[in-house]
Amino acid sequence: MTDLIDTARALAERFAPRAREWDQTRSYCWPNVADLAQAGLMGMTIPKDWGGKGASYLDTVQVIEEIARACTLSARIVVEANMGAISAVMAYGTDAQRALAAPLVLAGDKPAICITEPEAGSAATEMTTTARRKGDRYILNGIKHWITGGGVSKLHLVFARVFDESGSEEGITGFIVLRDPENGIDPKGFEVARLERTMGLCGMPEAELRFTDLEVPDDMVLRPPSGFRRGFADLMTAYNSQRVGAGTIAMGVAAGALEHAKRYLKERHQFGRPLAEFQGLQWMLADMDAGVHASRLLLHEAARSAAPFPDMFLAARAKAFASETAIKVVSDALQMFGARGYGDAEPLERMYRDVRMFTIGGGTAQILKTQMAGHLLGMRVPQSRGGYSDRER
Ligand SMILES: Cc1cc2nc3c(=O)[nH]c(=O)nc-3n(C[C@H](O)[C@H](O)[C@H](O)COP(=O)(O)OP(=O)(O)OC[C@H]3O[C@@H](n4cnc5c(N)ncnc54)[C@H](O)[C@@H]3O)c2cc1C
Repeated sequence: MTDLIDTARALAERFAPRAREWDQTRSYCWPNVADLAQAGLMGMTIPKDWGGKGASYLDTVQVIEEIARACTLSARIVVEANMGAISAVMAYGTDAQRALAAPLVLAGDKPAICITEPEAGSAATEMTTTARRKGDRYILNGIKHWITGGGVSKLHLVFARVFDESGSEEGITGFIVLRDPENGIDPKGFEVARLERTMGLCGMPEAELRFTDLEVPDDMVLRPPSGFRRGFADLMTAYNSQRVGAGTIAMGVAAGALEHAKRYLKERHQFGRPLAEFQGLQWMLADMDAGVHASRLLLHEAARSAAPFPDMFLAARAKAFASETAIKVVSDALQMFGARGYGDAEPLERMYRDVRMFTIGGGTAQILKTQMAGHLLGMRVPQSRGGYSDRER
């Protein structure tokens, strides 16, 4: 879909000049969201039957790279409007749930995926948010934190431990919760409790959400194919798409930094020569290029593996490698600018702060490598002291 990629490139040019403004004012880039929705880049992976473009993940990552080169914040919005929560709803939801979610995203909503809790980060299956069955609904109680888009997103996929009416635990699944106070949808028991102050990606709210006796009707429950007992594992297969998307943002930021570095090496003179003539910097540049290119190949391979979601091992490998590589590439680009790179006259300092996130959010590099090791060794790699607990399975 070269037209989508051309569109993304044109939008990226428009987004670049204001990337600094969103960062410095810590504001969500609503005008960019409107442009992305207008261009059909919000929800492009949604099947055509539901109003989307049915774009493949390979098309989507190419779009994401273009946007990320210019504006990390906008690229994150594109990822979450095409991968992760929306992928899970479109794959595992009922027709009614799809009919609810698709138009929201196509109109510009960036869904929020709510998994992490104060005491359940990497050990996500240790989550304590509960959903207790009561008649024709579930009652949700718990706290989620570091929820991207909390306070601006309308569609939320909230992960919780499910209990039947007799109090027996059934597993983990996702609950669809809408919040849109401007349009009168402000569910009782749903509180945006606080916002984090982050080092990068400053225009994106990262929120703590509190659920207190929040009522979710039965028809808003996601029922993954193997039931609640394997619900977490099934939903995580959808999340592999978001990992590929997140790795692509990191790679795109690195690719953008590389372009800035190439420009500056020719512009800046020291010792009577352009920086470009110094071999020490030439070799850095060569390594940066190889890192970006290798990341892109791994990410494209992972995106291409989607059936319907990217392969877990390929997604973990691509995200871990791309995110770690991007931090180094952007840091080296900043180094080439000397003091100028450290100041905000150039975008490098913002890119450096932005890119630092990608070895943390959406599965840390360590957890992804642990998953990879399990696959490579063909063995289970329990992280709990007593071996696999039921919750880790
Ligand atoms: C900007 C941002 C956005 C986010 N957005 C969302 C979101 O939208 N929704 C959501 O649900 N969550 C979100 N998160 C949370 C993110 O998924 C978690 O931060 C991540 O899973 C790690 O959990 P933690 O921060 O609690 O770190 P911890 O789990 O406490 O880990 C701390 C450190 O220990 C390491 N570690 C932990 N266990 C192991 C192990 N077994 N082996 C080796 N090393 C280990 C980790 O790699 C890390 O370096 C976001 C985070 C950030 C920073």
